[in-house]
Amino acid sequence: MLEKRKQTVAVMVGNVQVGGWAPVVVQSMTNTPTRDVFATTMQIKELAMAGSEIVRITVNDDAAARAVPKIVKNLRDVGVMVPIVWDFHYNWHLLLNKFPELAANLDKYRINPGNVWKWEKRDDNFRQIIECAIKYNTPVRIWINGGSLDDDLLQANMDANSKLEHPKKAGEVFIDSMVESALLSVEKAIEYGMPENMMTISVKMSDIQDMVQCYTMLSERTNLPLHLGLTEAGGSTKGIVSSSIALWLLLQQGIGDTIRVSITPEPGAKRSLEVEVCKNILQTLWIRNFQPLITSCPGCGRTSSDKFQILSKQIADELALKYDEWKDKYKTFTTTNIAVMGCIVNGPGEARNADIGIFLPWDGENPVIPVYVRGKTYKNLKGERVFEEFMDILIDYFEERI
Ligand code: SF4
Repeated sequence: MLEKRKQTVAVMVGNVQVGGWAPVVVQSMTNTPTRDVFATTMQIKELAMAGSEIVRITVNDDAAARAVPKIVKNLRDVGVMVPIVWDFHYNWHLLLNKFPELAANLDKYRINPGNVWKWEKRDDNFRQIIECAIKYNTPVRIWINGGSLDDDLLQANMDANSKLEHPKKAGEVFIDSMVESALLSVEKAIEYGMPENMMTISVKMSDIQDMVQCYTMLSERTNLPLHLGLTEAGGSTKGIVSSSIALWLLLQQGIGDTIRVSITPEPGAKRSLEVEVCKNILQTLWIRNFQPLITSCPGCGRTSSDKFQILSKQIADELALKYDEWKDKYKTFTTTNIAVMGCIVNGPGEARNADIGIFLPWDGENPVIPVYVRGKTYKNLKGERVFEEFMDILIDYFEERI
């Protein structure tokens, strides 16, 4: 059973609240070169239209830094208000000195202490970026990544562990160090003047079990909002499956305030697939509603024609097409559960359990196709216009005429 969500500190990222009682927020990241103002603007727009509530961009060189104010202006001019997060590594202070307007244009900075602040060396980098965030009243994400964990801290912990009478396994020390690095960074940021309500944390790893353990431990030790994500999840089905499992295991425990799914895209594929996956994870767990939930069976040997597959796809496509218009027009649109089933084995049961259900009763040439509304038989459809008539019934349902 889904556990009650852990109450965390509320952090404002631009116009979006992360943590507190806010819904779990969907995030994504661009993969266009940020120096390409047009391509990056268009991709941020695509991600925002798909439902990404925060978008992160790489700012890695002078050309990218110069492009940021133009990208932000382009977006705001057409009413796209999605908060933009600054993703940087190593050279942020050089960019900031050259382009002081950069920091003011962004809604959050993501900091990897593994490459701005070295444990023990206590250099000024971390303090400077925190002071910059305070100056612009901009929140930060403390981002600890298994691939760039502060090696001085890890080595110190490994050495200390080896001297114990009963040393832990190296993997356990690694996870402990991830959590410790996150908490030390938060402690340091507070010391430099950062208020608690301007910080979120992520501890990303590529192994699901390690990642879940790491977040679970962290959640027990902080009330700051947690950004969940499985890093380097892979591509296509593998990336979707592994990210879904990882996020489910944590969300199920009530852990997590914002999520991102990192999928290696197919060449030329839409970047917004990662947003769709995030939304589907949250909707499938009944954490948030974004669109009608369609329950449909896979079909099997009992469906010797393709009528069922065609009908199922037509309904899904039409709902996707009408999404922008209907999500605001109909108050039950995003919470409606629709069943589209292939035959009488599970069809009547699923159709009854849904708000609206339809199932093909047999493979005959011209079948009578029952439609259920709120658990009761509503109408039988027949002929060539089954899809159109089903959509009419669905609109009547959204309009509360039935
Ligand atoms: S509902 Fe019927 S068609 Fe669909 S998978 Fe089950 S048995 Fe097969």
